[in-house]
Amino acid sequence: MDSFDVVIVGGGIAGASLGAEIAAKRRTMIIEAEDQCGYHSTGRSAAFYLESYGGPEVAKLSLASHDFLEAPPGDFSEHGFLRTRGDLHVTKGELPELPPSVEARIVERAELEQMVPGIRPPWHRALFEPRCADIDVAGLHAAFLRAFRRNGGEVRTRARLKRATSRAGGWDIELEDGSTLRASILVNAAGAWADQVALACSAQPLDIAPKRRTLVQLRVGRSGLKDLPLVDDALGTFYFKGEGDSTVWLSPHDEIPSEPCDAAPDEIDIATAIDRFEQVVDWPVERVERSWAGLRSFAPDRLPVYGFDADVQGLFWCAGQGGFGIQTSPAAAKMAAALLLGEEPDASVKAIDPDVFSPRRFKS
Ligand SMILES: Cc1cc2nc3c(=O)[nH]c(=O)nc-3n(C[C@H](O)[C@H](O)[C@H](O)COP(=O)(O)OP(=O)(O)OC[C@H]3O[C@@H](n4cnc5c(N)ncnc54)[C@H](O)[C@@H]3O)c2cc1C
Repeated sequence: MDSFDVVIVGGGIAGASLGAEIAAKRRTMIIEAEDQCGYHSTGRSAAFYLESYGGPEVAKLSLASHDFLEAPPGDFSEHGFLRTRGDLHVTKGELPELPPSVEARIVERAELEQMVPGIRPPWHRALFEPRCADIDVAGLHAAFLRAFRRNGGEVRTRARLKRATSRAGGWDIELEDGSTLRASILVNAAGAWADQVALACSAQPLDIAPKRRTLVQLRVGRSGLKDLPLVDDALGTFYFKGEGDSTVWLSPHDEIPSEPCDAAPDEIDIATAIDRFEQVVDWPVERVERSWAGLRSFAPDRLPVYGFDADVQGLFWCAGQGGFGIQTSPAAAKMAAALLLGEEPDASVKAIDPDVFSPRRFKS
């Protein structure tokens, strides 16, 4: 039977980034149920970096990830993963409140019209977040997996964990194809399946709830859109960003409770998205070019979960990354790696209190 120090369940951005941090120090395998890593949430994101997103505690992880995403070490990638476009939180009423650490400025109607030509009159002001950027998600995920493998990590796809049994000093792991593995530590980085994986390890689930989000690529009768800022509603009912010269990615900001599954968009959510979009800009909608959906999975307090399980020895949580799992991945992986290895955290995350994200917080 193959034996590892660490087996990570799930090859999305969470598993890949943590794997890249620990593989040089622990013999590690990532097991991924699908044919390819990144098939689920990681491959379906809106691909932006927005510091204000997710509240003040998540903002700390995002801020601590920025420099790595912008200019990663040369042996990780020859180029950065960010393309700055800025974000306008537009409003018909009050401006939103952002975490104090986030750089932002008020934009009045005249400037707003220049920044988003064709924006309809009720949207009279906005808060502009200049550091918002697109993330090259596929490039980042591939670079984490590359670093993982270079550091000695192994990836096994079409390898769905069926059951794991805790024994003295580790885990006996059974895969759905009948094969078995051993590991001292098992990492639950299974995204929408995190609670199911916990149950398969005879651990208490943490109520990590998957919620479906829809994205639509629209062709519109307007050009020059590619570099416009991301536009979202201060009340959180839509966002869109220019994708090509005359195409946008649009979301109705939906959050539909779902079972863990291969998520697909619902017609009603696409129609809602288009209806909301038409109330923001006068750009004629020509057609839906494509649409997709993915699951964003949240713990009850909507903070991610990093750390060892409170009761089950050797089970490490790396779950509940909601809608910020890509933009927080570099810092979150460094913080989680220090917890898992029992080492001092990297300087970039030293000021972040890991207890905020511990699974033990649900015990008190
Ligand atoms: C529409 C949408 C827009 C988003 N936009 C953004 C954004 O702009 N910026 C941002 O930072 N984040 C965004 N997110 C969130 C981000 O995509 C997620 O937080 C992140 O991808 C979660 O990564 P993960 O590795 O935890 O999950 P996943 O990528 O889902 O990976 C989990 C993996 O575990 C595997 N698995 C499950 N069970 C088992 C098992 N039993 N055995 C083996 N493998 C198993 C699955 O097959 C899956 O591949 C968005 C998400 C969605 C859906």
